[in-house]
Amino acid sequence: MNLFVTGGAGYIGSVFVEEACQAGHQVTVFDNLTEGHRAAVDSRARFVLADLADRAGVAAAMREAEAEAVVHFAASALVGESMTNPSKYFRNNVANGVNLLDAAVEAGVKKFVFSSTCATYGPPERVPMDENLPQHPINPYGESKLMFEQVLKWYRELHGLDFVAFRYFNAAGASAQFGEHHRIETHLIPNVLKVALGQKDQVDILGTDYPTADGTCIRDYIHIADLAQAHLLALAPGHTGFFNLGNGEGFSVREVIATCEQVSGKKIPAVEKPRRAGDPPKLIASAGKALNQLGWKPRFAKIEEIVASAWAWHREHPAGYPD
Ligand code: UDP
Repeated sequence: MNLFVTGGAGYIGSVFVEEACQAGHQVTVFDNLTEGHRAAVDSRARFVLADLADRAGVAAAMREAEAEAVVHFAASALVGESMTNPSKYFRNNVANGVNLLDAAVEAGVKKFVFSSTCATYGPPERVPMDENLPQHPINPYGESKLMFEQVLKWYRELHGLDFVAFRYFNAAGASAQFGEHHRIETHLIPNVLKVALGQKDQVDILGTDYPTADGTCIRDYIHIADLAQAHLLALAPGHTGFFNLGNGEGFSVREVIATCEQVSGKKIPAVEKPRRAGDPPKLIASAGKALNQLGWKPRFAKIEEIVASAWAWHREHPAGYPD
Protein backbone atom coordinates (compact mmCIF):
# COMPACT_ATOMS: atom_id res chain seq x y z
CA MET A 1 0.00 0.00 0.00
CA ASN A 2 1.14 3.60 -0.54
CA LEU A 3 1.34 5.08 2.96
CA PHE A 4 1.67 8.76 3.83
CA VAL A 5 3.18 8.93 7.31
CA THR A 6 3.35 12.22 9.20
CA GLY A 7 5.83 12.32 12.04
CA GLY A 8 7.69 9.37 10.54
CA ALA A 9 10.97 10.87 11.77
CA GLY A 10 9.72 10.92 15.35
CA TYR A 11 10.04 8.32 18.06
CA ILE A 12 6.97 6.14 17.46
CA GLY A 13 6.71 7.00 13.76
CA SER A 14 10.27 5.85 13.04
CA VAL A 15 9.59 2.33 14.24
CA PHE A 16 6.24 2.20 12.44
CA VAL A 17 7.98 3.22 9.19
CA GLU A 18 10.62 0.54 9.73
CA GLU A 19 7.96 -2.16 10.24
CA ALA A 20 5.80 -0.87 7.36
CA CYS A 21 8.77 -1.01 4.95
CA GLN A 22 9.56 -4.49 6.26
CA ALA A 23 5.96 -5.52 5.51
CA GLY A 24 6.35 -4.33 1.89
CA HIS A 25 4.49 -1.01 1.99
CA GLN A 26 5.68 2.03 0.01
CA VAL A 27 6.16 4.77 2.57
CA THR A 28 6.36 8.54 2.22
CA VAL A 29 7.41 10.28 5.44
CA PHE A 30 6.19 13.87 5.88
CA ASP A 31 7.93 15.59 8.80
CA ASN A 32 9.10 19.09 9.70
CA LEU A 33 11.93 17.73 11.89
CA THR A 34 11.10 20.02 14.82
CA GLU A 35 10.80 16.92 17.00
CA GLY A 36 12.01 14.24 14.62
CA HIS A 37 15.42 13.41 13.19
CA ARG A 38 16.37 12.77 9.55
CA ALA A 39 18.55 9.85 10.69
CA ALA A 40 15.48 8.24 12.26
CA VAL A 41 13.83 7.74 8.85
CA ASP A 42 14.22 4.26 7.43
CA SER A 43 16.33 4.42 4.24
CA ARG A 44 13.62 2.53 2.30
CA ALA A 45 11.12 5.40 2.78
CA ARG A 46 10.77 8.61 0.74
CA PHE A 47 11.24 11.72 2.86
CA VAL A 48 9.46 15.06 2.48
CA LEU A 49 10.65 17.92 4.70
CA ALA A 50 7.56 20.08 5.12
CA ASP A 51 5.07 21.39 7.64
CA LEU A 52 1.41 20.51 8.14
CA ALA A 53 0.67 24.21 8.63
CA ASP A 54 1.24 24.60 4.87
CA ARG A 55 -2.14 23.50 3.45
CA ALA A 56 -1.10 23.62 -0.20
CA GLY A 57 2.18 21.87 0.56
CA VAL A 58 0.57 18.96 2.34
CA ALA A 59 -2.04 18.57 -0.42
CA ALA A 60 0.69 18.50 -3.10
CA ALA A 61 2.80 16.00 -1.14
CA MET A 62 -0.24 13.77 -0.63
CA ARG A 63 -1.04 13.74 -4.37
CA GLU A 64 2.58 13.09 -5.29
CA ALA A 65 2.73 10.14 -2.87
CA GLU A 66 -0.46 8.69 -4.44
CA ALA A 67 -1.41 7.93 -0.86
CA GLU A 68 -3.94 5.17 -0.21
CA ALA A 69 -3.74 5.51 3.57
CA VAL A 70 -2.50 8.18 5.98
CA VAL A 71 -0.88 7.35 9.30
CA HIS A 72 -0.77 10.51 11.38
CA PHE A 73 1.83 10.51 14.18
CA ALA A 74 2.97 14.14 13.93
CA ALA A 75 1.89 16.04 17.05
CA SER A 76 2.97 17.95 20.09
CA ALA A 77 2.80 15.39 22.86
CA LEU A 78 3.97 16.69 26.22
CA VAL A 79 1.43 16.99 29.00
CA GLY A 80 3.55 19.46 31.00
CA GLU A 81 4.30 21.74 28.04
CA SER A 82 0.63 21.78 27.07
CA MET A 83 -0.19 23.31 30.47
CA THR A 84 2.08 26.29 29.76
CA ASN A 85 1.66 26.62 25.98
CA PRO A 86 -1.86 25.44 25.06
CA SER A 87 -1.84 27.42 21.81
CA LYS A 88 0.88 25.18 20.39
CA TYR A 89 -1.24 22.11 21.13
CA PHE A 90 -4.46 23.35 19.57
CA ARG A 91 -2.64 24.66 16.48
CA ASN A 92 -0.44 21.62 15.86
CA ASN A 93 -2.79 18.87 16.96
CA VAL A 94 -6.12 20.26 15.75
CA ALA A 95 -5.72 22.97 13.10
CA ASN A 96 -2.77 21.38 11.28
CA GLY A 97 -4.45 17.99 11.53
CA VAL A 98 -7.46 19.42 9.68
CA ASN A 99 -5.12 20.51 6.85
CA LEU A 100 -3.97 16.91 6.60
CA LEU A 101 -7.54 15.56 6.65
CA ASP A 102 -8.62 17.92 3.87
CA ALA A 103 -5.66 16.83 1.75
CA ALA A 104 -6.57 13.19 2.40
CA VAL A 105 -10.19 13.73 1.35
CA GLU A 106 -9.11 15.62 -1.79
CA ALA A 107 -6.67 12.84 -2.74
CA GLY A 108 -9.28 10.10 -2.26
CA VAL A 109 -7.44 8.41 0.63
CA LYS A 110 -9.32 5.38 1.95
CA LYS A 111 -8.05 5.07 5.51
CA PHE A 112 -6.75 7.47 8.17
CA VAL A 113 -4.92 6.06 11.20
CA PHE A 114 -4.52 8.50 14.08
CA SER A 115 -2.29 8.55 17.16
CA SER A 116 -4.60 9.47 20.01
CA THR A 117 -3.90 9.03 23.69
CA CYS A 118 -5.18 7.78 27.02
CA ALA A 119 -4.84 11.44 28.10
CA THR A 120 -8.21 11.99 26.36
CA TYR A 121 -9.87 10.19 29.29
CA GLY A 122 -8.45 12.26 32.13
CA PRO A 123 -8.39 10.57 35.54
CA PRO A 124 -10.59 7.52 34.99
CA GLU A 125 -13.42 6.45 37.27
CA ARG A 126 -12.14 2.84 36.97
CA VAL A 127 -9.08 0.91 35.78
CA PRO A 128 -8.37 -0.96 33.60
CA MET A 129 -9.74 1.58 31.16
CA ASP A 130 -11.86 0.50 28.22
CA GLU A 131 -12.98 2.62 25.28
CA ASN A 132 -16.42 3.29 26.77
CA LEU A 133 -15.18 5.41 29.67
CA PRO A 134 -16.23 9.06 29.56
CA GLN A 135 -13.52 11.37 28.23
CA HIS A 136 -12.70 14.34 30.48
CA PRO A 137 -9.11 15.40 29.74
CA ILE A 138 -7.32 17.48 32.39
CA ASN A 139 -4.65 19.03 30.13
CA PRO A 140 -4.66 20.76 26.71
CA TYR A 141 -2.68 17.86 25.21
CA GLY A 142 -5.49 15.38 25.96
CA GLU A 143 -8.13 17.94 24.99
CA SER A 144 -6.48 18.61 21.62
CA LYS A 145 -6.37 14.90 20.81
CA LEU A 146 -9.99 14.48 21.87
CA MET A 147 -11.00 17.39 19.64
CA PHE A 148 -9.32 15.72 16.69
CA GLU A 149 -11.10 12.44 17.49
CA GLN A 150 -14.38 14.35 17.13
CA VAL A 151 -13.25 15.85 13.82
CA LEU A 152 -12.47 12.33 12.57
CA LYS A 153 -16.01 11.17 13.36
CA TRP A 154 -17.47 14.03 11.34
CA TYR A 155 -15.12 13.45 8.39
CA ARG A 156 -16.11 9.78 8.34
CA GLU A 157 -19.79 10.70 8.38
CA LEU A 158 -19.63 13.62 5.93
CA HIS A 159 -16.73 12.67 3.62
CA GLY A 160 -16.65 8.88 3.97
CA LEU A 161 -13.03 8.95 5.17
CA ASP A 162 -12.67 5.84 7.32
CA PHE A 163 -10.43 6.03 10.40
CA VAL A 164 -8.86 4.08 13.21
CA ALA A 165 -7.75 6.12 16.23
CA PHE A 166 -5.44 4.48 18.73
CA ARG A 167 -5.42 5.73 22.29
CA TYR A 168 -1.86 4.95 23.32
CA PHE A 169 -0.90 4.43 26.89
CA ASN A 170 2.84 5.07 27.60
CA ALA A 171 4.97 4.39 24.53
CA ALA A 172 8.40 3.03 25.45
CA GLY A 173 11.23 0.79 24.24
CA ALA A 174 13.14 0.76 20.97
CA SER A 175 13.91 -1.38 17.95
CA ALA A 176 17.53 -2.33 17.26
CA GLN A 177 17.88 0.64 14.90
CA PHE A 178 15.44 3.30 16.10
CA GLY A 179 14.81 4.66 19.58
CA GLU A 180 13.83 7.61 21.72
CA HIS A 181 15.68 10.90 21.26
CA HIS A 182 13.81 14.05 22.23
CA ARG A 183 15.84 17.26 22.14
CA ILE A 184 14.38 18.13 25.51
CA GLU A 185 13.68 14.86 27.31
CA THR A 186 10.82 14.87 29.78
CA HIS A 187 9.84 11.18 29.65
CA LEU A 188 10.49 8.87 32.55
CA ILE A 189 12.32 5.87 31.04
CA PRO A 190 14.88 7.78 28.91
CA ASN A 191 15.56 10.13 31.83
CA VAL A 192 16.17 7.20 34.17
CA LEU A 193 18.45 5.54 31.60
CA LYS A 194 20.44 8.77 31.20
CA VAL A 195 21.35 8.39 34.88
CA ALA A 196 22.37 4.76 34.25
CA LEU A 197 24.55 5.98 31.35
CA GLY A 198 26.22 8.55 33.61
CA GLN A 199 24.78 11.50 31.65
CA LYS A 200 22.72 12.73 34.61
CA ASP A 201 23.39 12.49 38.33
CA GLN A 202 19.86 11.66 39.42
CA VAL A 203 16.29 11.27 38.27
CA ASP A 204 13.44 13.34 39.65
CA ILE A 205 10.37 11.57 41.00
CA LEU A 206 7.63 14.04 40.13
CA GLY A 207 5.14 13.63 42.95
CA THR A 208 5.18 11.19 45.87
CA ASP A 209 1.78 12.00 47.37
CA TYR A 210 -0.51 10.42 44.79
CA PRO A 211 -3.22 8.01 46.00
CA THR A 212 -1.23 4.94 44.91
CA ALA A 213 0.54 2.24 46.95
CA ASP A 214 3.96 3.95 46.88
CA GLY A 215 2.68 7.50 46.29
CA THR A 216 4.01 7.79 42.71
CA CYS A 217 2.07 7.79 39.44
CA ILE A 218 1.18 4.52 37.76
CA ARG A 219 1.37 4.08 33.98
CA ASP A 220 0.89 1.24 31.49
CA TYR A 221 4.03 1.04 29.32
CA ILE A 222 3.71 -0.34 25.80
CA HIS A 223 6.52 -1.23 23.39
CA ILE A 224 6.60 0.94 20.27
CA ALA A 225 7.07 -2.13 18.02
CA ASP A 226 3.75 -3.43 19.40
CA LEU A 227 2.15 -0.04 18.70
CA ALA A 228 3.53 -0.26 15.15
CA GLN A 229 2.01 -3.70 14.62
CA ALA A 230 -1.43 -2.44 15.67
CA HIS A 231 -1.19 0.32 13.04
CA LEU A 232 -0.36 -2.22 10.33
CA LEU A 233 -3.40 -4.31 11.33
CA ALA A 234 -5.60 -1.19 11.24
CA LEU A 235 -4.86 -0.69 7.54
CA ALA A 236 -6.93 -3.76 6.61
CA PRO A 237 -10.41 -2.90 5.35
CA GLY A 238 -13.25 -3.21 7.82
CA HIS A 239 -11.51 -1.92 10.94
CA THR A 240 -12.82 1.39 12.19
CA GLY A 241 -13.18 3.44 15.38
CA PHE A 242 -11.30 3.88 18.65
CA PHE A 243 -8.94 1.37 20.26
CA ASN A 244 -6.87 1.51 23.45
CA LEU A 245 -3.30 0.20 23.19
CA GLY A 246 -1.60 -0.86 26.40
CA ASN A 247 -0.54 -4.04 28.20
CA GLY A 248 -3.13 -3.93 30.97
CA GLU A 249 -0.56 -3.69 33.74
CA GLY A 250 0.52 -0.59 35.64
CA PHE A 251 3.93 0.32 37.05
CA SER A 252 4.70 3.14 39.44
CA VAL A 253 7.53 5.61 38.88
CA ARG A 254 9.48 3.89 41.65
CA GLU A 255 8.90 0.47 40.06
CA VAL A 256 10.13 1.74 36.69
CA ILE A 257 13.29 3.09 38.31
CA ALA A 258 13.84 -0.27 40.06
CA THR A 259 13.40 -2.11 36.73
CA CYS A 260 15.91 0.21 35.06
CA GLU A 261 18.39 -0.51 37.88
CA GLN A 262 17.89 -4.23 37.46
CA VAL A 263 18.19 -4.18 33.65
CA SER A 264 21.20 -1.85 33.53
CA GLY A 265 22.94 -3.19 36.62
CA LYS A 266 23.57 0.45 37.68
CA LYS A 267 22.51 2.25 40.85
CA ILE A 268 20.10 5.06 39.92
CA PRO A 269 19.82 7.84 42.52
CA ALA A 270 16.37 9.47 42.65
CA VAL A 271 15.15 12.63 44.35
CA GLU A 272 11.58 13.33 45.37
CA LYS A 273 10.12 16.44 43.76
CA PRO A 274 6.66 18.05 43.65
CA ARG A 275 3.98 16.89 41.24
CA ARG A 276 4.04 17.92 37.57
CA ALA A 277 0.86 19.78 36.59
CA GLY A 278 -1.63 17.79 34.52
CA ASP A 279 -0.55 14.25 35.53
CA PRO A 280 -3.38 11.81 36.37
CA PRO A 281 -2.40 9.41 39.19
CA LYS A 282 -3.11 6.08 37.50
CA LEU A 283 -3.66 5.05 33.87
CA ILE A 284 -3.96 1.38 32.93
CA ALA A 285 -5.42 0.10 29.67
CA SER A 286 -7.93 -2.53 28.86
CA ALA A 287 -6.92 -3.34 25.28
CA GLY A 288 -9.42 -6.18 24.85
CA LYS A 289 -11.05 -4.47 21.87
CA ALA A 290 -7.76 -4.30 19.91
CA LEU A 291 -6.88 -7.86 20.89
CA ASN A 292 -10.27 -9.23 19.82
CA GLN A 293 -11.21 -7.07 16.85
CA LEU A 294 -7.81 -6.39 15.26
CA GLY A 295 -6.17 -9.66 16.30
CA TRP A 296 -3.41 -7.57 17.90
CA LYS A 297 -0.83 -9.57 19.90
CA PRO A 298 1.80 -7.58 21.81
CA ARG A 299 5.19 -9.28 21.47
CA PHE A 300 7.07 -7.36 24.18
CA ALA A 301 4.55 -7.09 26.98
CA LYS A 302 6.93 -7.40 29.93
CA ILE A 303 8.27 -4.16 31.43
CA GLU A 304 11.74 -5.78 31.68
CA GLU A 305 11.75 -6.45 27.90
CA ILE A 306 10.58 -2.93 27.15
CA VAL A 307 13.25 -1.35 29.34
CA ALA A 308 15.94 -3.75 28.05
CA SER A 309 15.25 -2.70 24.44
CA ALA A 310 15.45 0.98 25.42
CA TRP A 311 18.67 0.39 27.38
CA ALA A 312 20.26 -1.44 24.41
CA TRP A 313 19.41 1.47 22.08
CA HIS A 314 20.63 4.18 24.48
CA ARG A 315 23.91 2.33 25.10
CA GLU A 316 24.41 1.99 21.35
CA HIS A 317 23.41 5.66 20.73
CA PRO A 318 24.49 7.55 23.89
CA ALA A 319 24.14 10.93 22.10
CA GLY A 320 20.94 9.91 20.31
CA TYR A 321 20.71 10.68 16.59
CA PRO A 322 23.31 12.87 14.91
CA ASP A 323 21.75 16.23 13.97
N1 UDP B 1 8.07 11.29 35.66
C1 UDP B 1 8.96 11.41 36.70
N2 UDP B 1 10.22 11.88 36.44
C2 UDP B 1 10.62 12.23 35.18
C3 UDP B 1 9.71 12.08 34.11
C4 UDP B 1 8.44 11.61 34.40
O1 UDP B 1 8.63 11.11 37.85
O2 UDP B 1 11.78 12.65 35.00
C5 UDP B 1 6.72 10.75 35.92
C6 UDP B 1 5.58 11.63 35.41
O3 UDP B 1 5.22 12.57 36.37
C7 UDP B 1 4.51 10.58 35.12
C8 UDP B 1 5.29 9.34 34.73
O4 UDP B 1 6.62 9.54 35.21
O5 UDP B 1 3.80 10.31 36.30
C9 UDP B 1 5.33 9.11 33.24
O6 UDP B 1 5.72 10.33 32.64
P1 UDP B 1 6.11 10.44 31.11
O7 UDP B 1 6.49 11.87 30.89
O8 UDP B 1 7.12 9.41 30.78
O9 UDP B 1 4.79 10.07 30.33
P2 UDP B 1 3.28 10.66 30.42
O10 UDP B 1 2.52 9.73 31.33
O11 UDP B 1 3.34 12.07 30.90
O12 UDP B 1 2.81 10.58 29.01
